[in-house]
Amino acid sequence: MADRPSPRALPDELPQEEAVTRYRRHAEIPGWHQDALTGATAVVVGVGALGTETARLLAQAGVGRLVLCDPDDVDESNLSRGALFTPADVGRPKAEAAAAALTALVPGVRAEARHAELSAGVGLAELRSADLVLSCLDSIAARVSLTRRCALVGAGLLDAGTHPWGGEVRHYVPGGACFGCGLTPAERETADDPWSCARPVAVASHGASAPVSALTAAWLTTTALRVLFGLTEPAAITRVEPVPGTAYRLAAERDPDCPLHERIEPESVTRTPVAAVDRVGELLALVAADEIALSWNPFGTPPPTTIRLRDAAPDATLASLRVAPRELIPVVVPGDPARTRYLELAAEGEGNR
Ligand SMILES: [Zn+2]
Repeated sequence: MADRPSPRALPDELPQEEAVTRYRRHAEIPGWHQDALTGATAVVVGVGALGTETARLLAQAGVGRLVLCDPDDVDESNLSRGALFTPADVGRPKAEAAAAALTALVPGVRAEARHAELSAGVGLAELRSADLVLSCLDSIAARVSLTRRCALVGAGLLDAGTHPWGGEVRHYVPGGACFGCGLTPAERETADDPWSCARPVAVASHGASAPVSALTAAWLTTTALRVLFGLTEPAAITRVEPVPGTAYRLAAERDPDCPLHERIEPESVTRTPVAAVDRVGELLALVAADEIALSWNPFGTPPPTTIRLRDAAPDATLASLRVAPRELIPVVVPGDPARTRYLELAAEGEGNR
């Protein structure tokens, strides 16, 4: 992808000799490239039954950096299915509990928790930079939101879901069919758009047992690793059905009317030294008088009423308004869409100052 980091040799925290020993059985697998995993970043969106198992498998395989995003806390009912949760985690944010468990399980892994919904937890520049984005979500609305955000920055997406006795793994490549291509127009409506008042589609989530989640997560992770290794992996939908005992692929067909393929042109993006932890006034200093900088999430005293950042207190931090780390901030000029541009937030501590 656009600014994929070059692979590092091995994580600094893990002595070379220990790492070689840990992964020596991987070296016997045809096509396996441990270094490709060590330097990789995977974003896992949704840290429930499917997400925890997927994150565990990616970390144990040796993926060096995992960004875990989920707005929910661990509930008692998660303990029967979440691969990384213990009773002591009940009430704790899922992303934080999972990140802590991964760090204990795999020394050297960088597991970062984002206790937020996707559009507030992972910025568009992070999705663009990631080597893999994995959707382990439980609703159509959330998947549509992630699909749209990945398309905006040309990021591929691996999506998986479960039903009571089986699962599905969907591999989407940039420019090809997306999750939304298989939906009706009503199902595609989403609130993750600063110019839209559409509400997410309410979709009931279906429960699945731990083994079905683990089976689907294993299939998802196998596909993810092959993508990281550069092995041929077709864009397709794979259905895994333990009952009656089959797995088969379906072609993912592009719908020419699917509106989720809008792309932010790279030349419309300007990098800034401002990070999400910085103040609104610092960002607005980069915006012309006739321009309006927008948030992807409404903010303000409940209920949230505005997406115009100039409506916020200048000394408020962008993060307090639910602006994600490394977000691309839309800047528009009313009546002149050709002047729409984006300001890229810096990573925390990495601004050009
Ligand atoms: Zn589509």
